[in-house]
Amino acid sequence: MTGHVIATVSEAVCQQVLSRQDAFDAVEAVFAAMARGEARNFPVVREALAQGGPLYGFKSGYDARGQVLGLKSGGYFPGNDARGLTNHQSVVALFDPVTGRLTGLVGGNYLTAIRTAAASAVSIKHLARADAKVLGMVGAGHQAAFQLRAAAEQRAFERVVAWNHHPEMLPRLATVAADIGLPFQAVEREALCAEADVIITITSAFEPLLHADWIRPGTHLACMGTDTKGKQEVEAALLARASVFTDEVAQSTSIGEAQHAVAQGLITADAITPLGQVIIGAHRGRTSADAITLFDGTGVGLQDLATASVAMARAEAAGLAGGVSF
Ligand code: NAD
Repeated sequence: MTGHVIATVSEAVCQQVLSRQDAFDAVEAVFAAMARGEARNFPVVREALAQGGPLYGFKSGYDARGQVLGLKSGGYFPGNDARGLTNHQSVVALFDPVTGRLTGLVGGNYLTAIRTAAASAVSIKHLARADAKVLGMVGAGHQAAFQLRAAAEQRAFERVVAWNHHPEMLPRLATVAADIGLPFQAVEREALCAEADVIITITSAFEPLLHADWIRPGTHLACMGTDTKGKQEVEAALLARASVFTDEVAQSTSIGEAQHAVAQGLITADAITPLGQVIIGAHRGRTSADAITLFDGTGVGLQDLATASVAMARAEAAGLAGGVSF
């Protein structure tokens, strides 16, 4: 048995080497690979450690084209904010798909935020109206800032309207909007839906925050918060009115926003289109300026692996990766 050296890429190095554009490109490419059948996610394990307490699990997959194999281990620890830590904690382990040997450990916290923001940005690129002007943000937690920055790069937005369950968190998001030069206004939920052309929901809600009949024709929604059984951000009836897209149908119907509409018999799984199909040109995506498009972003392991493998390669090339004998 010969030992080998694995690469370690810290959270700080991930931030240094992986840009928003890198994450966008990696996520768009892996969604396309999934649609072509070249990459697949494995079933998600996600368990509550206690009722209302931390969630812990694994997301994994294999990208045969990119030769990327691995998993992200981690979860959501709601008490962390008070400890001065982000609520999401995770690490990505990458393996050699030929030998099965561990090749690297990459910090997963920044990757989670930037790959989740990239997914909704990819959905905006492919599904939002070209003339979208007002961006609506529902949620103002850790992910929301990343979401806002990535979304803002996809259309010529003129302003941001926002709502959050905990209004005291909104000023932090307002600072991000100011940093990217967009006017920011805190509004009530119904007003947000009346004004926004693109709406991102990124909360930990377990009940609908947006009513179906508040949503105007032509709106694109990226529903990003629901990634666990029981969570919900929009009324299930909205999914019956909208053209629904997702990262992966199996996750959308089980742990995503579509779980409720499917359980209530309002839609079936075959009404949900993988966004990759739009990216590779196999599905038209938005069919009219009046259509409501909804991206159910559940978060797939391949997003983590795609961004982690780029981060690891960049870190190694720049001499910023650590090495551990194994
Ligand atoms: P966070 O803890 O920093 O923020 C939580 C947000 O949810 C805040 O805006 C908070 O005000 C809001 N919120 C909390 N309880 C609520 C309630 N009962 N009703 C309405 N809003 C409520 O978390 P975060 O890191 O910003 O993550 C936000 C959500 O996104 C989480 O649910 C997380 O699991 C999910 N997430 C999804 C993906 C994905 O790929 N789809 C990736 C990362 C995070």
